[in-house]
Amino acid sequence: MSGMWILDRLQAWQEKTKIALRYGTDSLTFKELWSQSEALAAFLETKYPEMLRQKTPLVLYGAKELALVPAMHAALKCGVPYVPVDTLYPVDRLRQIISQVEAKVIINLSACQLQGNFEVLDGRALQQIFTDYAGHTSNTDHWVQDRDVCYMLFTSGSTGQPKGVQICKENLLCFVNWYRDFCPVTEETVALNQVSYSFDVSVIPLYIYLAQGATLFNVGHAELEDFKLLETALGASRLTDWVSTPALFDICLFAKNFNQQLLPRLKRFTFAGEVLTKTLVRELQNRFGREAVVINGYGPTETTVLLTACVVTAAMLAAPESIPIGRLNPALGHKLDQGELLVWGGSIGAGYFKNPEQTAKNFFTAPDGKRGYRTGDLVTEREGLLYYQDRKDFQLKLNGYRIEPDDISSNINKLDSVQHSLVLPVTKDGKVAYLAAFVQLKPGCSQGSSLKDAIAVKKFLKTVVPVYMIPKKIVLVAQFPTNVNGKVDRKKLLEGLS
Ligand code: AMP
Repeated sequence: MSGMWILDRLQAWQEKTKIALRYGTDSLTFKELWSQSEALAAFLETKYPEMLRQKTPLVLYGAKELALVPAMHAALKCGVPYVPVDTLYPVDRLRQIISQVEAKVIINLSACQLQGNFEVLDGRALQQIFTDYAGHTSNTDHWVQDRDVCYMLFTSGSTGQPKGVQICKENLLCFVNWYRDFCPVTEETVALNQVSYSFDVSVIPLYIYLAQGATLFNVGHAELEDFKLLETALGASRLTDWVSTPALFDICLFAKNFNQQLLPRLKRFTFAGEVLTKTLVRELQNRFGREAVVINGYGPTETTVLLTACVVTAAMLAAPESIPIGRLNPALGHKLDQGELLVWGGSIGAGYFKNPEQTAKNFFTAPDGKRGYRTGDLVTEREGLLYYQDRKDFQLKLNGYRIEPDDISSNINKLDSVQHSLVLPVTKDGKVAYLAAFVQLKPGCSQGSSLKDAIAVKKFLKTVVPVYMIPKKIVLVAQFPTNVNGKVDRKKLLEGLS
């Protein structure tokens, strides 16, 4: 299979002194990006031949540090999957992932100290390798092949164990060769690289924009926590292309001067990961002009970033229905099974890492032998355009993050004091506003005050799940109410919230 492949493109630009990535005052040229990934790949080939032979994943713990990108490319050159774990994830969750994939080498760019049955390369060690192995080259025989896994992303799993979604080179090519037409790039293109590498919307800047020679403009956690910092950074960015979840854009809209004056070159916006509302698009047009190109993309991580996409038109905004999620990548087949979208073809990933049970539940083989995936999303279709309606199960999106509520309750249940718990979304205006956890303690296990008990639950959760999964409200219940079927009465629990 051929097409626009990141390593081939970067190889062609290995002498190019144009800036490939910028983060604050730091930057990497295409030439530096290439030589750093060559150096790290050569180091790994020399020091860890077993890792290459066994295709043991390389775990990357960090946020938006520049060195993460050459580290990803080094993994691709070694033919091993990389596993990006954002520092949003606490060390306990990272350790779960490390032990699941039996990683031998961890690149740790966080401030946390990591120790274990593996080698840790911190930022300094990495820079030393870039220097010591400068001029070395990778062995192209090791580069990932079509069926090799390029990356694994760990998503929320209902058992409390994150699931590792495996994406191969052929899956990426199927996505890239279609979606690139939505985002043609010129020498002047600067694309936002904000989405955490733990979520696959980040694949758009990494494999679509960078592979077409655009500059990526990184935005990290610090900027997101302080709008003044973000504003200063964006003001100096020369950004032409925006890529984010609608949630991030919504946050930016809180700032009055987030508009065309701040970002005069910004003309194209890709949104993906959750429902894109008309309210958001209209406000975007108010701030950035009606000529702004707005793209709505949809797809689960398991199917490689996006399955469908469309440019939002004036007619779509004027129509009574919601904004469509677009037309399917024409390389894929699909059908609706009682409203659920089933898809098959080249971009359907290789299933969950060492999890045949979950893989068999969600993936299938289509009659033509192609790999298929049950999305769990209920959609409707009209004149080739798909419209997202709802989920079939309890999986939800909160601020753009994918969450299985049972992942959180399974973790709460690990506390010795807890008898049972249930996590539910609280919705406002048709959107998940926050999560509430209902917790029943074992007899005699209360610390004497609901507040103290709730704080203990939150404190524990902080060590085992990412911050965005910690419920805003922890409600202690003496007993769970049940409905006529004997099931927990979810409605009644939610009614009890003030
Ligand atoms: P993730 O695997 O984190 O990308 O989440 C995938 C899920 O997010 C999908 O199965 C949908 O439920 C939801 N989703 C993603 N993009 C959209 C969109 N544009 N509109 C509505 N829901 C979306």
